[in-house]
Amino acid sequence: MVFMSSKGDLAKYPFTKEAQKYIENLNLDIRDLVSPKYSSLLRRGGERVIEALEKGIVSYKDNNYVEELLSFPLARLLVESLGDDYLRRRYAVAESKRVDKLLAMEENDKLIYIARETFGWDIRKAPRQSIGGRFYDYELNVVNYLEYAPYFQDKYWKLVNRVLHKGYVYLRKNDVARLISEAVKWRLMEKKGKPPVLPPEIKEMVNIIESKLVAQKKDRGIDGGFGEVSRDSFPPCISKILSDAIAGKSMSHHARFTLTSFLINIGVSVDELVEIFSNVADFDEELTRYQVEHIAGIRGGGTKYTPPTCSTLKTYGLCEKNELCQGVKHPLNYYRNSLRRQKGSEKTVI
Ligand code: SF4
Repeated sequence: MVFMSSKGDLAKYPFTKEAQKYIENLNLDIRDLVSPKYSSLLRRGGERVIEALEKGIVSYKDNNYVEELLSFPLARLLVESLGDDYLRRRYAVAESKRVDKLLAMEENDKLIYIARETFGWDIRKAPRQSIGGRFYDYELNVVNYLEYAPYFQDKYWKLVNRVLHKGYVYLRKNDVARLISEAVKWRLMEKKGKPPVLPPEIKEMVNIIESKLVAQKKDRGIDGGFGEVSRDSFPPCISKILSDAIAGKSMSHHARFTLTSFLINIGVSVDELVEIFSNVADFDEELTRYQVEHIAGIRGGGTKYTPPTCSTLKTYGLCEKNELCQGVKHPLNYYRNSLRRQKGSEKTVI
């Protein structure tokens, strides 16, 4: 059976090899995209990006397959023309959510086909059997599994919690859909080269998106980059956890708690913290906000938590001690000492 042969499939999965080939064969120039023939295309391309910003998920419209397909590279062009990491990430996450939802409704063979043909994964149907009361329909080479599963924070994805047989991980359909959508997200997060010179019609759409982007970043306190907080004064343990969060790496519960409680105590806002965690796989805005507010003392018993002491962080394997940590017993003390040192050196300069 041939998969990805219908325009509907290409519209749903515009990141696949087949969809890319279809677009290439049309041999369109950027000016064609703003011609009257494609007048609704720019609108839909812009809509995809605005949906990503405002709703966190891109919708799927099945009323015009070609428009739906072509609006994908156009939306990407709009995103890249602004060169903003926040927008790029937000768009990638929103497209990956759309893909996850659609794939979960497909036949097993189609997921296998996409995973093999577009991502080159070694994946096959598993012999139908129940393990621990669950049916697994797929076997994925553990090497491919480890490309994306470590980005998910849920214990469910840890290799030790999976059924592994002769180098293959047993998976269910939702697992494969989640892994493929994660792969899509990382592809969309890759920076492209310099965008081409845009015709005025597209520039107009870019301006609309930019104004929404600026407003959202302002609302969420993102542009200030922690306001008065001095990142240069962070202890090495916190700098490391923060970089991991921004890079979207998998983080332990202890690491998340330490980072959140530290940043809350030095004046970083709940919105900024939610934004920091938005890069981590399996990000759930509502849940993250709830957890951050709990640590900030806005919810629960009203207790504002402080980060663990250095000795506790050592036992968690989170200490990244450097020479300035000498005699420091708490990361917040490191930060305050470092700020004092900074102020002292500023005075000397004056
Ligand atoms: S000694 Fe303390 S402040 Fe320094 S890296 Fe370790 S845990 Fe962080």
